Amino acid sequence: MGISRILIANRGEIALRIHRAAHEMGIETVAVHSTADAEAMHVRLADHAVCIGPPSATESYLNVAAIISAAEVAQCDAIHPGYGFLSENAKFAEIVEAHDIKWIGPKPGHIRTMGDKVAAKQTAGELGLPLVPGSDGAVSDPEEGRKIATEIGYPVIIKAASGGGGRGMKVCESEDQLETLMKQAGSEAKAAFGDATVYIEKYLGNPRHIEFQVFGDGEGNAIHLGERDCSLQRRHQKVLEEAPSPILSDDERHRMGMICADAMAKMGYRGAGTIEFLWEDGGFYFIEMNTRLQVEHPVTEAITGVDLVREQIRIADGKPLSVAQDELEFNGHAIECRINAEDPFTFAPSPGKVTYYHPAGGMHVRVDSGLYAGYSIPPYYDSMIAKLIVYGRNREGCIMRLRRALEEMVVEGVKTSIPLHQELLRQDDVLNGDYSIKWLEEWLETRE
Ligand code: ADP
Repeated sequence: MGISRILIANRGEIALRIHRAAHEMGIETVAVHSTADAEAMHVRLADHAVCIGPPSATESYLNVAAIISAAEVAQCDAIHPGYGFLSENAKFAEIVEAHDIKWIGPKPGHIRTMGDKVAAKQTAGELGLPLVPGSDGAVSDPEEGRKIATEIGYPVIIKAASGGGGRGMKVCESEDQLETLMKQAGSEAKAAFGDATVYIEKYLGNPRHIEFQVFGDGEGNAIHLGERDCSLQRRHQKVLEEAPSPILSDDERHRMGMICADAMAKMGYRGAGTIEFLWEDGGFYFIEMNTRLQVEHPVTEAITGVDLVREQIRIADGKPLSVAQDELEFNGHAIECRINAEDPFTFAPSPGKVTYYHPAGGMHVRVDSGLYAGYSIPPYYDSMIAKLIVYGRNREGCIMRLRRALEEMVVEGVKTSIPLHQELLRQDDVLNGDYSIKWLEEWLETRE
């Protein structure tokens, strides 16, 4: 018996995204929601809905007992965690499987390994992925730290093994600061993540962020679906993503993609994953692997034609990969703008009631969003309210269409980052694809 009813353990646009894939496969959906999300679009569209707690995520979307009970009561045979919340919680994945419910995600052991940055880096190295030069594992002794830093050369970056969201990192320019910064990084990591373990790696001055989408069947077969360039970031948060990367040749894509696919095959990886690299002067350096669906997955869907959520559900159901590596083609160009309910200049969150909403439309324009006129954006969660994904036969055409789509899109009642995207798409460096992970913040400083 295949999967017939999926519990969606998430909210917002990704909950809707999962609902859509499920319904297209003839699978029923069960939405779980906090009291703040009772009127959300995915709750309205799902076949069944269960309220699992008050607004605070800890008591609702992170509430394992409530979610498992909802799955039992509503007789779900699978759970999709989306991204964020419990999606990379190995313990949760184990609990789901222990209840004989299918976990639409990677094997819990792989989630655990990749969630520990020191173990992830070690594993990645063993699997043949190129690493940022640095310590082999955790470093606690300042003398050992000095030795490693001298070997790889300053500047170096001290990172927390349990870090995440760009937190718990210190850049060290010279030897005299190393001991102090190692101590600081350790105690800050302890306070933030409950784990003082740190490691050291070479600090790259001006890299791009390029990540590869991978998929495995859990039985030793794996494919890659090309890369996404996510270099336009503010405070380590991606703002705009594109596929393919403007700087990667077909040969390079094939070479790196196959290194990633082979690594996943060797590991016996199951489901969707993203291997993140920094790229500088033609070299790739592994930084981390995300064992889940990414926010920016639609740009990959646009250039490959593969529905990644459908693929996740198929794999969880024990089916083989629907496409072989040599059947995959990368066509055209796609760009995603993350649209947040926030001030486009100060970035202050702007929750509240949407009085009018008109999404963009037309050929090759996709809007993933749970917005509707009259909806109140709650203040408790992430500020992303929509993703605008546009496809074109080439990058230039894609950008022209994206500008047109941004002109059409109207959200009234709250402030949004639409004007920021419009401004970005007038910058020569963005038009030329000439940007690194530092570009956006540097540009924001010179704005006005
Ligand atoms: P997190 O899990 O906290 O997001 P990552 O390891 O993915 O941590 O790093 C987050 C960001 O920090 C990267 O996108 C990059 O901007 C910066 N960074 C991480 N490692 C390095 C490095 N070795 N050199 C330069 N920048 C780095």
